[in-house]
Amino acid sequence: MPTFVRTDKCDGCKGQDKTACVYICPHDLMKLDTDGAETGHPMMAYNQEPEQCWECYACVKSCPQNAIEVRPYADIVPMGGSVQPLRGSNSIMWTIKFRDGSLKRFKFPIRTTEEGSIEPYAGKPAADIEKIDDNGFFVDSSGYRAGDPDELIAK
Ligand code: SF4
Ligand code: SF4
Repeated sequence: MPTFVRTDKCDGCKGQDKTACVYICPHDLMKLDTDGAETGHPMMAYNQEPEQCWECYACVKSCPQNAIEVRPYADIVPMGGSVQPLRGSNSIMWTIKFRDGSLKRFKFPIRTTEEGSIEPYAGKPAADIEKIDDNGFFVDSSGYRAGDPDELIAK
C-alpha cells in the first residue's frame, strides 16, 4: 500500500531546497506542496501518485520527522498495528506497534564503514567506451566472484 504524509508531523524539511523525501524517492513520487494548492497543506509533502508507489520505504526511513507512514497489508500488519522505521547515520530504529497498543523497538546497524567513505569504483578499471557493444559484464573481469554456500545465512 502506498505512503502517506502525516500533516501533524511534516515540517517541509524546514523549507530547504529539496526535502528528504523528494530527494530519496527512486520513483519521483514525493512532492512538496509549497503553497498548499494541491493538498490544502502548504509546505508539506505528499505522494503525488500513490498507485505508482512500490513501498520501498526509502522515504519512510529518511524523513527526519517520522512523518511518512505506509498503509500496511493486513497479512503482515493487522488493522490497528504499524511498523515504522527511522533511519540514523549508522542504524535504523524499527518501532512495532501491536493492535493492543503495546510497542517494541528494534535497532539494527546498517553499515560497517564510516558514512560517506565508500568508493564504489575503487580497484576497478576505468570504463572503456570502445567496448560498449561487446557482450559480457563489467564485473566479469574485475569484481565478480562465485557465491560460497558457506556464506549463506539460511542453508
Ligand atoms: S521528509 Fe518528512 S518532513 Fe521532510 S518534507 Fe518529506 S514528509 Fe515532510
Ligand atoms: S515508498 Fe519508495 S516509491 Fe513509495 S513514495 Fe516512498 S520512496 Fe517513493
